[in-house]
Amino acid sequence: MTTVIEELLAQLRDLEREGLEAVRAGGDAGALEALRTEYLGRKGRLTGILRRLGELSAEERPAIGAEANRVKEALGALLDERAASFASAADDGPRVDLSLPGRARWQGGVHPVSLVIDEICDIFRDLGFSRVAGPEVETVEYNFSKLNTPLDHPAADMHDTFYLSDGVVLRTHTSPVQARVMEAFQPPVRVVVPGMAYRRDPFDASHAPGFAQVEGLAVDEGITFADFKATISEFVRRFFGADAKTRFRPSFFPFTEPSAEVDVSCRICRGAGCSACKHTGWMEIMGSGMVHPSVFANVGYDPEKYTGYAFGMGPARIAMQRYGLPDIRLLYESDMRFLKQFV
Ligand SMILES: [Zn+2]
Repeated sequence: MTTVIEELLAQLRDLEREGLEAVRAGGDAGALEALRTEYLGRKGRLTGILRRLGELSAEERPAIGAEANRVKEALGALLDERAASFASAADDGPRVDLSLPGRARWQGGVHPVSLVIDEICDIFRDLGFSRVAGPEVETVEYNFSKLNTPLDHPAADMHDTFYLSDGVVLRTHTSPVQARVMEAFQPPVRVVVPGMAYRRDPFDASHAPGFAQVEGLAVDEGITFADFKATISEFVRRFFGADAKTRFRPSFFPFTEPSAEVDVSCRICRGAGCSACKHTGWMEIMGSGMVHPSVFANVGYDPEKYTGYAFGMGPARIAMQRYGLPDIRLLYESDMRFLKQFV
């Protein structure tokens, strides 16, 4: 028959074993607090065992008291240690879950039209041209009159224009910047002018009401059509390839005389004829000509002393040719699936 003291010692050992196991399994700080109350609280299981101290003799009591203290300290120490590990984990902030898939990083790129504009301007920089900009909102005077195009001139009908108010328009070409540059600087002048222009064109596969242009102007004493042809041919060879041929076709613009359309041999069929070049072997890339003497007179240059040439091209059209784009609207839609190809 077991004595009371043996019974109490056995209960204390069971309590210790169960308690340590339960604390080790405790999943969070709340569970540990509940275990502390269950085992060591004022109405807890350890207190329950010690209530029976009265059944022991005075000589027996210290042995149970000492054993109870040892169990209390062992359980308390493990509870403190486990609680501290949960607290420090919480202090570290959110844990990194290395098993989660990564998030792709966005990579920006330059729009294909801007790529073409930058390349054109870089080539002309090598040829001695500075890059300049001008206002997109222009007066009728600069957009038409200074460029030898009075409003009743038939050429004014070529530009079906956005009028903002009386005498103020969204510029229909970048050419007004020619007049502004010539009024601000004396020759020699060599500039390229990239920028937006606006016309009341339908928005379809080959037209847009707002589009980029690159304008060029060179003015000095003794500039001839031969200088112009040499400069443009050099540009074409650098931009389209060393074997690219250049062709000048007579044309008409009010602000140049003589005027020419510039064609480059088709890059797809190498001049043999294909659907992209409408079986001509040539692709039109710019309008151009020698600056009209009236334009010089309008900006205060002496037409007897100075000559020069001007040209304008559409980088969107050139981008369409270069990248084989079937529809100009692709360049306006900001569709990431399209634009990502140029990153
Ligand atoms: Zn072709």
